[in-house]
Amino acid sequence: MSAPRPQHAPLEQFEVRDDCLQVGGMPLTRLAERVGSTPFYAYDRARLSERVALLREHLPPEIHLHYAMKANPMPAVVQHMATLVDGLDIASGGEQRVALDTPMDPGLVSFAGPGKSDADLRCAIAAGVVLNMESDAEMERIAAIGKRMAIRPKVAVRVNPDFELKSSGMKMGGGPKQFGIDAELVPATLRRIGELELDFQGFHIYSGSQNLKAAAIQEAHEKTFALAIRLAAHWPGPLRTLNIGGGFGIPYFPGEQRLDLAAVGANLKRILPGVREHLPDTQVVIELGRYLVAEAGIYVSRVIERKVSRGQVYLVTDGGLHHHLSASGNFGQVIRKNYPVVIGNRVAGGERETASVVGPLCTPLDLLADQMELAKAEPGDLVVVFQSGAYGLSASPVSFLSHPAALEVLV
Ligand SMILES: *Cc1c(COP(=O)(O)O)cnc(C)c1O
Repeated sequence: MSAPRPQHAPLEQFEVRDDCLQVGGMPLTRLAERVGSTPFYAYDRARLSERVALLREHLPPEIHLHYAMKANPMPAVVQHMATLVDGLDIASGGEQRVALDTPMDPGLVSFAGPGKSDADLRCAIAAGVVLNMESDAEMERIAAIGKRMAIRPKVAVRVNPDFELKSSGMKMGGGPKQFGIDAELVPATLRRIGELELDFQGFHIYSGSQNLKAAAIQEAHEKTFALAIRLAAHWPGPLRTLNIGGGFGIPYFPGEQRLDLAAVGANLKRILPGVREHLPDTQVVIELGRYLVAEAGIYVSRVIERKVSRGQVYLVTDGGLHHHLSASGNFGQVIRKNYPVVIGNRVAGGERETASVVGPLCTPLDLLADQMELAKAEPGDLVVVFQSGAYGLSASPVSFLSHPAALEVLV
């Protein structure tokens, strides 16, 4: 039988030997023995490093690259990323603790997100983490805490832009939002910063996520720089930093095209000299989560049973929605699509069939693959879900149905 055509983009990047997927330089079957039990997530260190190198190759060298930790907060992954990127972006006190355990300079760690607690703010201020302020009320709290601690807190203004990132999977700016200070109110905020004991760093302008269209990202970059230049005119000193967000997407579903990173990089190289004229001393930062880590990770579960119901094959596995909500379709997405899935220990397989991969939860939503063409699998075989290095375990309802937790390994 001829080798099947990969149905999804990511398979092209993974090596297959003797019909077994290779992960972290070893066959998946050996990795599963080493981990000792299924299900597990495996993140490939070499692949993480390669992704950062790819970005360095295409983006202008003067741009700093930050890792947005919420995409994958596993401490070992964060430690590895901290050696590769120029800064870490955190969004909670828990992420702050992990970030401060890395060798990263706290001044290169920035803390965004609404509803920061006073305890989180005290920790950030004491450590010298940059606080991306989401509201004027937060600014006043930060200033008051800084005064009590006799420290000038490092702050940036998160701006809710007056535009949206088009074709974005998740819109994070434009219109009314819980994130950031509305662009039109920022001049007043800057005046107040000048009256308070705050060490102003610059702006954070994040407009969306999971975007595969270079043209949309390029347009957002142009509008972001224009907005930053307009707002910077309201601050008497230079802007130290300008975080222009990220939003670089990865292909999850059949037919999705990779983001044209070369085009995004070339456009930045074209527009940066013009930006420099207005913001000569400003460090430009791009923050990325999933683009850095998603494709380096797989989720592996084991087939417990093969079941045929009215002619349809179900592979019942020990993993599912409780570990990997996004691959299951987020509790009933309007149109559910399959993540890339293979039987990892028989990728091409002697025989192929159409099967659904389901988990052990008592809900029809517990589905990792819906009627996909896969190698014919037997109990004991390993089911692999690709594109699982971001928003996997930490973004899943792990307590739902009280099944055992999944392990995570960095290989
Ligand atoms: C979530 C988030 C990111 C990361 O988004 P990705 O789509 O994973 O790249 C970056 N910046 C901010 C402010 C975020 O909230």
